[in-house]
Amino acid sequence: MTATGQVLIRNIDQTPRSPVQMDGVKGASMAVMVGRKDGAPHFALRQFAVEPGGHTPRHRHDYEHEVYVVSGKGTVFLGGRDNQIRTGDVIYVPANEEHQFRVGQDAGEPLRFLCMVPVEQNCGGLVPGS
Ligand code: MN
Repeated sequence: MTATGQVLIRNIDQTPRSPVQMDGVKGASMAVMVGRKDGAPHFALRQFAVEPGGHTPRHRHDYEHEVYVVSGKGTVFLGGRDNQIRTGDVIYVPANEEHQFRVGQDAGEPLRFLCMVPVEQNCGGLVPGS
């Protein structure tokens, strides 16, 4: 592998998805679109899906997230309160800021979002994801 890895074009439909297994998670899955296994030296890009009635854990960590909502709607706890989010929104979660994504039972579809983290923080979804 070279220092920068190989080029990559990957479709979400062909990317393995696995349940997020952390305390405080309900109905969330993750697909690593690009990460360490692909030779990316700095960033990992993951796609999350949170089912209606589901949520990610409320947590914080010493690195930031850059999030893009691909489809659906829900709320993100950020800045000490719940904020409505929907398709097309970008959310910046600063380091050490408590955050949680949540989808209403009546949402009708999963909330799908892309979430970027430093590559060393992405270990197959077993460490803090979104
Ligand atoms: Mn997080």
